[in-house]
This record gives sequence, structure tokens and C-alpha cells, in this order.
Amino acid sequence: MQTRDPAPVDAPQFAAALVRWQARHGRHDLPWQADRTPYRVWVSEIMLQQTQVATVIGYFERFLARFPDPLTLAAAPIDEVLHLWTGLGYYARARNLQRAAIRIRDEFAGQFPTHFEAVESLPGIGRSTAGAILALSLDQRHPILDGNVRRVLSRVFGIAGAADRATTQRLWAQAEACTPHTQVAAYTQAIMDLGATVCRGKNPQCAQCPVAAECVANRTGRQHELPGPRIRRAGRPARHTHMVLAVRPDGSVWLRQRPPSGIWGGLWAAPAFDSAGEARDYAQQRGGEPSTLPPIAHAFTHFDLTITPYLVRCAPAGAVREGSEGLWYNARDPARIGLPAPMKVLLERLSEES
Ligand code: SF4
Repeated sequence: MQTRDPAPVDAPQFAAALVRWQARHGRHDLPWQADRTPYRVWVSEIMLQQTQVATVIGYFERFLARFPDPLTLAAAPIDEVLHLWTGLGYYARARNLQRAAIRIRDEFAGQFPTHFEAVESLPGIGRSTAGAILALSLDQRHPILDGNVRRVLSRVFGIAGAADRATTQRLWAQAEACTPHTQVAAYTQAIMDLGATVCRGKNPQCAQCPVAAECVANRTGRQHELPGPRIRRAGRPARHTHMVLAVRPDGSVWLRQRPPSGIWGGLWAAPAFDSAGEARDYAQQRGGEPSTLPPIAHAFTHFDLTITPYLVRCAPAGAVREGSEGLWYNARDPARIGLPAPMKVLLERLSEES
């Protein structure tokens, strides 16, 4: 692909235009924009990595009400952290938040670090997130390059090429050049807002854009070519699992905690098996012949999972042993534990039927 060099847009003018635009048209009422401490910005940035703003707001408020600082987060049972994350997905984010909070408690006296290298060394925090935390909360000058910023810079400066190492390095250099020496927080919020609300992936609103006259993509009609394609691996592997829902007459369902690593690490789910035969054997030992429910599809980052659920009704005392290996989960009096999204769907289906 051709690139346009030298870039025709003046970086300081670009930053100034964005700051002016943000003051009038940007987002100002998001809960993490009030009392912008590094801790609050960190939690919001991690939640926003894979999730839309509208969804994050409620989760953020509940999370901050329960864990107002790194020390309360570090001290909490992981089940409670995962419980407050249930529905947000990508649970490694929540586990990393708590691991980072424990390091903040043990290595930084409970205070969120304010040096870039220290912030970037925490679990789950990469270069862009570290920059965003310190720029937004402390006005420190660090460039950021999340998905939205990558799109804006690619289009405005005409930086084409697939999302490979060389293109990424060019984009980081452009991000560095554009980051102003004053009003860093305002600029960082501005470029994030522009990418989220105006320079959108599918339908960029160029008529409302403060840099439309200078933007290379707009001037050359290449909005849909920029940024360049992501590098995708051919095909996504498909996996299959068989899950047994052992249900008591009161509607409670037998759940076990998953091992700490692997998919759904630390979350609670019904017993799962690689084959239908194993699932049926397990169900028959617990209550009799199971009935098969409609399968559920769930997309992970690197593979697609199909879950076939089997429903078996147990006696009130249940043939499943009580104890530390699991618990009876009742949606009417739910335990404060973390549930994978498909498990939530299955539990909702069961309670709708009963
Ligand atoms: Fe994006 Fe259009 Fe603005 Fe260019 S003019 S930055 S393509 S919204």
C-alpha cells in the first residue's frame, strides 16, 4: 500500500484543534472523569479495553463502591472481584487487576505508582494503558495508541499498511509527535472521544470532524481503507464441551470452581466434559438420564466454543456431594461468585423455565 509522506498535517495544530473540539463536543460526564485519580482511571481503562462505555458505567460504579482503593481490592476474596466482573467478560482483566493491587500494596505502600515504568510493570497494563492512566489522571506527557487512536492517526496522517510491527512503530512515532506539552489530559481525552464518537470504524462522521479539512483519508476518500487490515490467522479453531446442569427441586444448580488458569480461571461453572459419554455418565450417577438442551455458542479471542448442556434433576438432598469442591447456586439467593457469561445464560434459561 502507498503511504503519503511527508504527512501534510501539522501535529501541534492537530492537537490544538482536538482540544478545542473536546471542550465543546467531547464526553464530560462519565463517572471516571470525576475525581480523576490514577486508581479510578486505571479501573475504567481496564474495563473499557473490551467493553462499550454504556455497559461499563454500571460495572465501574459498583466496583468502585466496593473497592474504593487498591488496598480494599488487594484484600478482597477473588470470588468477590470476579462476581463484580460477571457479564463483562475477559476475566483475566479482573484477575490482573487484583494481582496488580496486591503488588501496589506490597511494593508501593498502597499508593498507585506515578512513574511510567512502574505503572507499565503492573499485570495487565501495557504501554498505551500506562500512558492513558498517567496522562488522564496526572497530566503527564505520554502518548497512547489504543484501537480508537490508531484509527484516527492512520486516517488523519494517511498511515497505511497492515497492523504489523513497522506500521505500529510509525503510529507510535506519530502519537508521540502529536501529544502536546500542555493540556495532555484534555488532548488524550479528545483523541479518545474523537475515535469513539466521530471517527468511527464503519461510518466516520467527517462532516462533524474538527480536522476534516486536513485529514488525508477524508481528502482522498480513503476512510474505509484506513487503517490497514488487521493480520488475521486463517480460520478460528472450534472447540466443544459438554456441561451437566444438576438441578435440585428448589432450582439450585451444582457449580464447581474452575482451576485458576485456563479458560474461565477461578470462575464457577457446571461440571464440563470433553465428550457426551462422560457427561451422560456423570449425569446418570447424579440423578438419572439427562435431557439435552439447545447448545450455546461462545466466542473467545482465539477460538469458538460450543457448549452442549445436559439437564438432570436431582433429589432434594442431591446425589452430588456437598463440600469444598462445589456449591449449590440458587438464582433467588445468589452466592457472590464469578460466573462465565455462558453459565449466566444457562442459569437464566433454567430460571425462566422453572
Ligand atoms: Fe476520521 Fe473523517 Fe475526521 Fe478524518 S475527517 S479523522 S476520517 S472523522
